[in-house]
Amino acid sequence: MVQLSDTRPSGTTIPGQASTDLQARRSQHVARGLGITLPVFIDHAEGALLFDVDGNRFIDLASGIAVTSVGAAAPEVARRVAEQAARFTHTCFMVTEYAGYVDVAEALNRLTPGNHEKRTALFTTGAEAVENAVKIARTATGRSAVVVLDHAYHGRTLMTMTMTAKHTPYKRGFGPYAPEIYRVPVAYPFRYVGDEKQCAADALARVEEIVRIQIGEREVAAIVAEPILGEGGFIVPAHGFYAGLAAFAREHGIVFVADEIQTGFARTGRMFACEHEGVVPDLITTAKALGGGLPLSAVTGRAEIMDAVEPGGLGGTYAGNPVSCAAALAAIDIIESQDLVGKAAAIGEHVLPRLRALADRHPVIGDVRGRGAMLAMEFVEPGTTVPNPDAARAVAAACHADGVLVLVCGTFNNVIRLLPPLVIGTDLLDEALAVLEQALAA
Ligand SMILES: *Cc1c(COP(=O)(O)O)cnc(C)c1O
Repeated sequence: MVQLSDTRPSGTTIPGQASTDLQARRSQHVARGLGITLPVFIDHAEGALLFDVDGNRFIDLASGIAVTSVGAAAPEVARRVAEQAARFTHTCFMVTEYAGYVDVAEALNRLTPGNHEKRTALFTTGAEAVENAVKIARTATGRSAVVVLDHAYHGRTLMTMTMTAKHTPYKRGFGPYAPEIYRVPVAYPFRYVGDEKQCAADALARVEEIVRIQIGEREVAAIVAEPILGEGGFIVPAHGFYAGLAAFAREHGIVFVADEIQTGFARTGRMFACEHEGVVPDLITTAKALGGGLPLSAVTGRAEIMDAVEPGGLGGTYAGNPVSCAAALAAIDIIESQDLVGKAAAIGEHVLPRLRALADRHPVIGDVRGRGAMLAMEFVEPGTTVPNPDAARAVAAACHADGVLVLVCGTFNNVIRLLPPLVIGTDLLDEALAVLEQALAA
């Protein structure tokens, strides 16, 4: 049995009374379309711990969806945000400039894969970065088609929800969708009968056939692909698929865009996940962990592609907000100085064997996968690949009830994903894993 006395003050339930009261106000005032994973209201955070308004303590294995890699209350982020906010909160970079924007662009150009000359443009949300990558690729190529993958997630705006694979809840009722978006298969090893090499080759052959026959290579401006598909279920494409896709793009003058919004900034045990596959993308989109908890996103890539857009063509009122830039610079400092790339890799080495052992004992876990601190279990009807969303939901709920925040994802809602802050200690990881083990046993 896990000792849960730290997690839940005696006499308190999850959610507690204060959260329940706030929930009633929320229901009255907040739009119903916003979902909720765990209905507790957070009071403060500390490293990988979240504390709610009732004093419950949660081990955070979500990081606000891969955002707070440096923790949700990193003192250095808080200090630099406060300092910047006291100097000025906003000018609009297209009106008057500030150095923080250039500093973030320089850092992104240095950290992203490839030694070619690069440029960066900053935006606010991940979806905005993806939208702008498409605009830039279209301008640079003079073409309009955009190719995306099965199980992809790229955001909730008109363009990006169209690029997203899953209909419910992301698209239901929101059409008509953006034109010129085409979907191709991804090499999903767990859902392929045959070895990994064949899985990659088969999917690539299908991609090439669809692009050639149904779209036309010379119509395609961009292929946009996540190196590990996040919301789609932490699908690690079969080795060779991602590099093959990038090579196909290069061969046909198609801009290859790596959407590293979830995978970027040390999460997978490399600074960027496409490094695992030896891919140097033409453009790379980042957000989430980039801003250290504040809204900031970016498109970084080959200077000749980025600079295809005329002055005035890119921007946004808040794009590259100075407070967000200060937070990003602090987060990047922490990632580099505390070797969070190494920490993410170590989290994977520590947790993956434990998850595999769980899968051996519980046939309801069909697959364990991931890289670094981006890990997942796919739940199935034992002995089959039939998705089992009920099991994933039940295990997640049991974890929540015992003070461990995990997220469910996946096209079939049957994947539990683990995204701890990269600063999490082994003690908390072990405590969380013990809770997960208990939840599975129950
Ligand atoms: C979260 C996410 C987005 C969208 O980012 P928002 O900031 O929510 O707009 C796009 N692509 C990927 C891969 C993501 O994980």
